[in-house]
Amino acid sequence: MGTHTAEQAAGATNGPATVPTRTGLLIIGASQSGVQLAVSLRALGFGEHITLLGDEDHRPYQRPALSKEFLQGTVESESLIFRSNDYWAEHNVDLVKGEHIVRIDKEADGSGVAHASSGREFPFRRLALTVGARARKLEIDGGDLDGVLYLRNADDALALKARVGDATDVVVIGGGFIGLEAASSLQKMGKNVTVLEFGPRLVGRAVGEETAEYFLQAHRSRGLDIRLNTSAARFSAADDGKAVAAVELQDGTVLPAQIVLIGIGVIPNTQLAEQLGLDVDNGVVVDRFALASDGTTVAVGDVANMPNPVPGSEPGERIRLESVNNAIEHAKVAAYSLTGRREEYAGIPWFWSNQADLKLQIAGLCNGYDQTVLRYDEERGKFSVLYYRRGQVIAADCVNAPLDFMAVKNALAKGQNIPADAAADPATQLKTITTDS
Ligand code: NAP
Repeated sequence: MGTHTAEQAAGATNGPATVPTRTGLLIIGASQSGVQLAVSLRALGFGEHITLLGDEDHRPYQRPALSKEFLQGTVESESLIFRSNDYWAEHNVDLVKGEHIVRIDKEADGSGVAHASSGREFPFRRLALTVGARARKLEIDGGDLDGVLYLRNADDALALKARVGDATDVVVIGGGFIGLEAASSLQKMGKNVTVLEFGPRLVGRAVGEETAEYFLQAHRSRGLDIRLNTSAARFSAADDGKAVAAVELQDGTVLPAQIVLIGIGVIPNTQLAEQLGLDVDNGVVVDRFALASDGTTVAVGDVANMPNPVPGSEPGERIRLESVNNAIEHAKVAAYSLTGRREEYAGIPWFWSNQADLKLQIAGLCNGYDQTVLRYDEERGKFSVLYYRRGQVIAADCVNAPLDFMAVKNALAKGQNIPADAAADPATQLKTITTDS
């Protein structure tokens, strides 16, 4: 995803060419939240030098397409790059690729030095951790065979693309977003795909039961072989002893597989925060302004455990969100903090996932709901579930129903309600029945 020469000419460094000064901000992690933080800071007039450092060899890129358009070959890698080299150079941001920070020495005033595994040192006046999360590994026999793959970053996607042409059978382990998006893509590419989900339903962490059941039926009717309440017990090798050839399930069933793709969740990268002595609990614990427990370091995006930002949520409720929208909105909060302003999270968390022709949009967070309202228009292929807590709408899962999604998202943002009894008729436009709570 990029060419070295052009990048080095424009300030993206790999190797010992540029060493930033102590006076600036060091952003560790050059993905969605790190990029947004740098961009938002410049938009706010932050005048200090910024170093945006990542451990991948690629220029910062958008990840959502990796399991869909990029895998299917319908977008070029260049179009996934966030910002041009000119942008970074013009905005006085040093983009440092391929450096992995292993230790940080930090003073009480928030300044310090980050040490990379290469031996390079990166001094800073303020520090931002936008280090994200890593794929959870499935530690079973055969897990190190060729063709047993994960899909979290561009190199993972390139490795998958490189093998896909020779494969006829793929087993996807994990029926979450990554598993179902990739399974749909691989099915579209003509592969025989089986999805193994450990739990009793799909997308267990992100959607309610009705939506999970809708996806199960919709994917099965499109020919995807989905098996619930099961997982792989071991992977076995082909005759060469190197490449994966089959997956043995916990019940003894054996499925042929030249590719095994594992998407069983992620683990926040808290190692640096732990080494710094910051509070860590399912992510780096931050306050409403994205500040970690030392009061100077900001932590943003997938790695941050923050107060639930949804208006009306239970006091003290905390959440770690893994989504593009959160990376963007949370980075804006951190940018305000770093410029001395205190601005809380704006907007309502939302998510999307495209799986075959099923376009899921989620508004809000359904945690703690006590009632659901189903809106199903079979003829038009639209499906929504609205979630309520004590009569107040708190979230919606919408499949191919963008107007329902927008109506709920807008109502949540304005503190309004969509009364449950009036919402059940799918012919009713939700925005016409929205009320001030
Ligand atoms: P995920 O959403 O946590 O889903 C993982 C799924 O794998 C869960 O349903 C889990 O079931 C299941 N599982 C766990 N252990 C298993 C096992 N041994 N065998 C079979 N199934 C098992 O995580 P993901 O799909 O890997 O995605 C990774 C991250 O990327 C997430 O943060 C996700 O939100 C993000 N992502 C987002 C999008 C999007 O927003 N469109 C797209 C791709 C990825 P249990 O719940 O029962 O443990």
